[in-house]
Formats: sequence, structure tokens, C-alpha cells
Amino acid sequence: MADIEVPIFIVGGSLVGLSTAMLLGHHDVRSLAVEYHHGTAIHPRAAQTSQRTMEIFRQVGLEQIVRQKSEEQYVQDGGVLAVETLVGGPIAHYIADLNEGVRDVSPTARVFLSQDALEPQLRKRAEELGAELRFATEMVSLEQDAHGVGAVIRERDSGQTQTVRAQYMVAADGARSRVRERLGIRMLGHGTFSKSITIYFRAHLAPIVEGQKWSVVYVLNPQLSGFFRFEKPFDKAFLGVFTVGNPEHPVMDVSTGLTEQRSLELVRTALGTDRIPITIENVMHWEASANMAERLQDGRVFLAGDAAHVMPPNGGFGGNTGVQDAHNLAWKLALVLKGVAGPALLSTYGPERHPVGAFTVEQAYSRYVLRTAPNMSGDGLQPLAPDLNIEMGYVYHSDAIVAEHTPEDHNDSRVHENPRESKGRPGTRAPHVWLQRRGEQISTLDLFGRNFSLLVGPDGNAWTEAARDRSDMLDIDLDVHKIGENGLTDPSGGFPAAYGITPTGAALVRPDGFVAWRAKTGDGASAGRIKSALATLLRQPIR
Ligand SMILES: Cc1cc2nc3c(=O)[nH]c(=O)nc-3n(C[C@H](O)[C@H](O)[C@H](O)COP(=O)(O)OP(=O)(O)OC[C@H]3O[C@@H](n4cnc5c(N)ncnc54)[C@H](O)[C@@H]3O)c2cc1C
Repeated sequence: MADIEVPIFIVGGSLVGLSTAMLLGHHDVRSLAVEYHHGTAIHPRAAQTSQRTMEIFRQVGLEQIVRQKSEEQYVQDGGVLAVETLVGGPIAHYIADLNEGVRDVSPTARVFLSQDALEPQLRKRAEELGAELRFATEMVSLEQDAHGVGAVIRERDSGQTQTVRAQYMVAADGARSRVRERLGIRMLGHGTFSKSITIYFRAHLAPIVEGQKWSVVYVLNPQLSGFFRFEKPFDKAFLGVFTVGNPEHPVMDVSTGLTEQRSLELVRTALGTDRIPITIENVMHWEASANMAERLQDGRVFLAGDAAHVMPPNGGFGGNTGVQDAHNLAWKLALVLKGVAGPALLSTYGPERHPVGAFTVEQAYSRYVLRTAPNMSGDGLQPLAPDLNIEMGYVYHSDAIVAEHTPEDHNDSRVHENPRESKGRPGTRAPHVWLQRRGEQISTLDLFGRNFSLLVGPDGNAWTEAARDRSDMLDIDLDVHKIGENGLTDPSGGFPAAYGITPTGAALVRPDGFVAWRAKTGDGASAGRIKSALATLLRQPIR
């Protein structure tokens, strides 16, 4: 018998490992996460947090604290722009205002919050929800059989080892994932194209930056290509450097042989002045790569986050994509562990997340090339898709979706679209509509999170009655929300159209807020139809 028995074992306790532990806790699933480092992130790294990630945080009660921490740390709605040197001012604006043109699609908004400030919040919430997190602890070996996963973990300070036995494992162990390596899963894509650095420095930058809506500032000049990120009160910042030298023929290895003096020179060059005193605090070395794991599952082990996909930071997609992996996986693991869903539900993780990961990697790569490495442009560069599609409009095609084989969407295999156009089609994120519940404004998204939810139009009595006929239903918790019942109202009257149904129709939404099935009208409403949809989705025989 193992020293520790736990349903889910997570390797890696950074952004994605902590998110996985938190989201499993939200579904009342116990997990153990081990993290090699002594605590949460010490470097800022990821900061751009998408609306989708904020929606996920909203589900677990983290939205407000994340927003508050962001207000302390960053100018709100800051932009993404380019300069030759900082003092020279903008030469291009990629995003003038972080939330311009996207506020209508979500009850929440994009923010910047650095990983070193976010991770303590994820840790706290994960622990509140019952996750066990062990820092300064590494996984040293792994094996799996038909019934579970076995691992050996070692406390780094004492050297003491323990055995762990779990039903499933999530590998959130980063770009150099040892789990992935041991499973022999290859990374495919563009490979590594630069040995980059991030220089953390202190300098009194307020006279240049204060009052500007600048959060990410790309620097492109004949000496270097990189980007600044500024935190309030503008006495410290970081400069990421991708390449040095003429961008047409750059040196792609910035990292080898780097000295503090050279770091100082790079910061001064990017600032465009040597009049500002600078103190270098730290330099982080990392590789810019764009690769996707060839598969995301091996038996009972699932890859998530950078273990599954690595991409350059351009666009700010990497960490967000990892949080979405965790969100996709958590409810599936929970329902399988509870015996409500068949194990085959877990096999939908790869088909849903792999195409989305691969597409996002390509989009980050295109942004890297177009914004920072013009020497790499050439054939085969994926055209830029709007950020909103990447963040909110990704589409799932799998057996956990009851696709509508109508003439328009038969064989529709698109991976992304404008979330305003999906209109509740199965496989897309359930749209946000402002509703009222007993006089309080809520989003449709606030109705989802733990269970499957049936959203019913104002004249959809036939569906509510069918859903409440528990005698004929599977052993599953189904939340039923009908407009006009229990104080739930739709003041704008926009709910049915937003979900592509008539007022007599209904939409079935998964715990991760994706539409799984819908009936456009009340014709033929019956418990049997809901049951049949659920059985298909849950990969369960109808009993
Ligand atoms: C400069 C920079 C800026 C970025 N900006 C953004 C941004 O704005 N937005 C965004 O979304 N993304 C951004 N990213 C990307 C983002 O940082 C990563 O995608 C994210 O950190 C991945 O999280 P992860 O948990 O999957 O992996 P990691 O953060 O790499 O964490 C993996 C963890 O696993 C641990 N580990 C590994 N092996 C073991 C083992 N055997 N036992 C125990 N522990 C182990 C490691 O110690 C590590 O802490 C940026 C990246 C960089 C470099």
C-alpha cells in the first residue's frame, strides 16, 4: 500500500498545477499537488489574464480579489504598443485599451496581474477548497497500470521519500515536463528559436510612463527586439529580450555569456537613454518556442499547461490556455470519479483541447514573428486571428458535445470564431447575457459551474417539466433555470436569441460553461430526450 492515497495527483504547483487543484476542489475532488520550488512564483512572468480566465476565476470566487490586486499592480485597461525606444514614444498600437471592443461579451474584463501576485491567491483558494499542496517536493518516479498511477515523491530539504497512489495524474510540470518525457510524448512544431532573457530592474520610470496606458511595450530597433512590462508605481519593470542586433539578421541567443554590464546596456538601449539610474535585480533565462505535445493523454495521465503546449509570450496566451486546460479537465475527472460519467469522458480532453492548444501556439508564433522577428517571416505563417476569438471563441468538437448536423454546420470543424456569432451552438462557450435574479443583476454565466445546467426559455414549460421528471433521469445533478421562474428574469429579452433558441426551447450547458446540446423549440420535449443527451455526453449507457 502506498504512503499516500489520493484521487488525483498533480505534478507541478505553479499557475496551472494550482489552478487544477483549485478547480478540482471546486468539484469536491481531493488532490495532492507537489511543487519543486519552496513556494509560489517569485518572477512576474505571465500577467495578461483573459476574460475567459477571469470568468473561470469568477466561478470559484476569485474574480474580485484578482481585480483588486491588478488595480494595485497595473494601470487598468493598459494597452499593447511598440516603440523603437521608450523615450522615443509609440510607433504602433496593437491594442490601445485592453478591454476596448470586448466588454459586451463577458460579465468580466481582461486584467494584468503578474504570476507572483496571482499564484498566492490560487494557492489560498485551492487550500480553502481542500487541496493538499506540498512545496519543496518533487516527483522522482512514475508508473501506471490499468487501475491507477503510482509515483515516488521526495522532500527536497530532508531527502525523505514517500509513495503516492492515485486514480489519475495531471502533469502540470511545465515546458520541460519530465512526465511528458517519460511517457515518450513528443513536442511538435517550430522548435526553439531564441534563447531569451527577462531582465528585472529598478528605475524611476514614472516621469516617462505615469499617466500613459502602457502595459506591454514592444521594443524593436537595430540593437534589440523585446518588450517591457511596467508595474505601478513605476519604480520597477522588466525587459524581455528575444534577440539582439539588426532584426533583419539577429543573434537569437541572448542568454549565453550574459553579464550584468550587458544587461544594463540592453535596458539602457531599450529605454533610449542612459540618464536614468538602473539597478538590475535579476535575470531569468528562458527559451522562446512554439510547440504542441502530439497527444495530451497517456492512459491515466493528462498533460496540461506548458507541459502540453509552449508558445512565445506574444499575445499573453500561454498561461491562459493552461488554465482552460485545467477547467476542461476538472469537471470530467470529478464526474468520472463520482461514477456519474464513464471513463471515456476523459478521452474527450485531448480531442477538445489539442486543436485549441495547437491553434493558440500558431497564433502566438505569428505574433512573435510579425511583432519581434521579421527575419523569420515566410511561408506557412498562420494569419492573425482576433485575440477575442483565441481567448473566448475556441470551439470544441468531441463526443462530449451533441453536434447539430444541420446543413449549415455539418462537417464544421472550425476551431475558433467570434464569440458573438456562436449563438449557443453546441461546442461553443455559452454566451453571456445579463439577467436579473430577485432584483439582482447576474450573468447567465453565474448559473453554471458545478453541475450540468438546463437553461429554458420563458415559454419552455414543457422542458422544465421534462427535466423535473427525475424518475426517468440519470443519476446526475441537473440545475434547471427557466426564465420567469424563481425570480429569474431577462429584462432585455435577449436570452433566447443569444442561445439560438425560440422562447419554448432549452440549452444544456456543461459545468465548464460550454453548450453541450440544445433544443430550439419545445416540440417533442421529454425527459427521455434530456436523458439521452446526457447519456451521450457522459459516455454512459442508458440504464
Ligand atoms: C516573459 C514571459 C511573459 C509571459 N507572459 C504571459 C502572459 O502575459 N499571459 C499568459 O497567459 N502567459 C504568459 N507567459 C507564459 C506563462 O508564464 C506560462 O504559460 C505559464 O507559466 C505556464 O504555467 P505552468 O504551470 O503550465 O508551467 P510552469 O509555470 O513552468 O510551472 C511548472 C512547475 O512544475 C514544477 N515541476 C516540474 N517538474 C516537477 C517535478 N518533477 N516535481 C515537482 N514539481 C515539478 C516546476 O518547478 C514549475 O514550478 C509568459 C511567459 C514568459 C516567459
